[in-house]
Amino acid sequence: MNSEIRQLADAGVAGNWRPLLESAKNVPSSNWADDARCAGQDLEIFFPDSEHPWSDPDQVREANGIALNHPLNFCADCPFAVQARCLVESLRHDDQYGIRAGMLASEREHLLAAWDKYIDPEAVSSVLRGVPTVLNAAERRAVIARVAENAAPSVEHARRGLGIDRKYLWQLVREHKQSAAA
Ligand code: SF4
Repeated sequence: MNSEIRQLADAGVAGNWRPLLESAKNVPSSNWADDARCAGQDLEIFFPDSEHPWSDPDQVREANGIALNHPLNFCADCPFAVQARCLVESLRHDDQYGIRAGMLASEREHLLAAWDKYIDPEAVSSVLRGVPTVLNAAERRAVIARVAENAAPSVEHARRGLGIDRKYLWQLVREHKQSAAA
């Protein structure tokens, strides 16, 4: 794994995801995947045999041997900003399998756990402006809380940003109020 990506990931686990998120913005193209080193490759190689999020990474490396070099070399050659974006996307989409940014799924497990507690103000703001955005559980709760507290600029924008219908939004708001009152 790129040592700089590791440092950004470690900062995230320590509570500061901003450097990783900022690096992920510097991708050269509007479609970041166009510049990925793995674009057009057989993506099967990024899913090592018998690997799960809870695997022991050393055992995965031992079991897969030099076959792992192939995908890991692609990641090492990938532009730095694309590696950062790839890692951010994997966190946002809760990817629990496969190699991303030179990391096995089992090596990203603790990143996912830390990410799930993080609230990205930009992601929350995007949803409140009606821009569909993938949120983690903490960010989603933050949006619902804003609606429940009548602090969202527009309920309709929040609904659109979350990608849910009004009925489900009000159900989530009710549940939020009930748990806040408990
Ligand atoms: S970091 Fe690896 S998995 Fe991610 S886009 Fe680049 S080559 Fe593909």
